[in-house]
Amino acid sequence: MSEANADGIARRGLLFVLSSPSGGGKTSVGRALREGDPNLHLSVSLTTRPARPGERDGVDYHFVDETTFLRAVAAKAMIEHAEVYAHRYGTPRAPVERALALGQDMLFDIDWQGMRQLRAALPGDVVSLYLLPPSMAELERRLAARGQDDAATVARRMARAAEEIGHWEEYDYVLVNRDFDETVAAARAILAAERLRRSRRTGLAAFVSGLLGG
Ligand code: 5GP
Repeated sequence: MSEANADGIARRGLLFVLSSPSGGGKTSVGRALREGDPNLHLSVSLTTRPARPGERDGVDYHFVDETTFLRAVAAKAMIEHAEVYAHRYGTPRAPVERALALGQDMLFDIDWQGMRQLRAALPGDVVSLYLLPPSMAELERRLAARGQDDAATVARRMARAAEEIGHWEEYDYVLVNRDFDETVAAARAILAAERLRRSRRTGLAAFVSGLLGG
């Protein structure tokens, strides 16, 4: 369990899932959240898709081949996995369990399929946030502007976006990502409140009984 604060109140870590359609801003919002928040650790997924320019193995993803991925699934080393855009993606289990035990929080840049599986595996620990684009035209503009994908890939991601957005109601929180700074501020507020949730805090009962008895 995490180090207790000055009042002897520790807490269990939480699993913060950030989803959006591709180009919806989850990666940059996630990066901003982690800056200046040393207790929020990024879950680095395994993927079979090739690295994009600038992506680093072990930092953005663990880039693996199909055999390695399937072996990890068979060994139950993945807490969730899914196929997205014809590639496999999945979350390694060990870092999640370690973070929870240490009272640290983890950030997940995963899709709705992953969120569902994670919530089923660890109900009560998952806090989920969906970022909606202000419009589909703006989503397409952002996807093209990031310059990471060719026109055919952008078209494929747009075709898929409507289906992804269709899962917005499964999330605890939903924000329209119109203004980056406002979105980050709102996401920080959600995180701050969820960290104070009573069910996550151990030692509260002892504190209160000391309070009343002492
Ligand atoms: P990209 O290829 O653009 O990095 O990611 C494509 C999609 O896969 C995104 O929606 C991203 O959130 C999702 N994704 C990335 N890692 C994982 C993962 O470990 N599990 C699941 N279920 N989805 C993931």
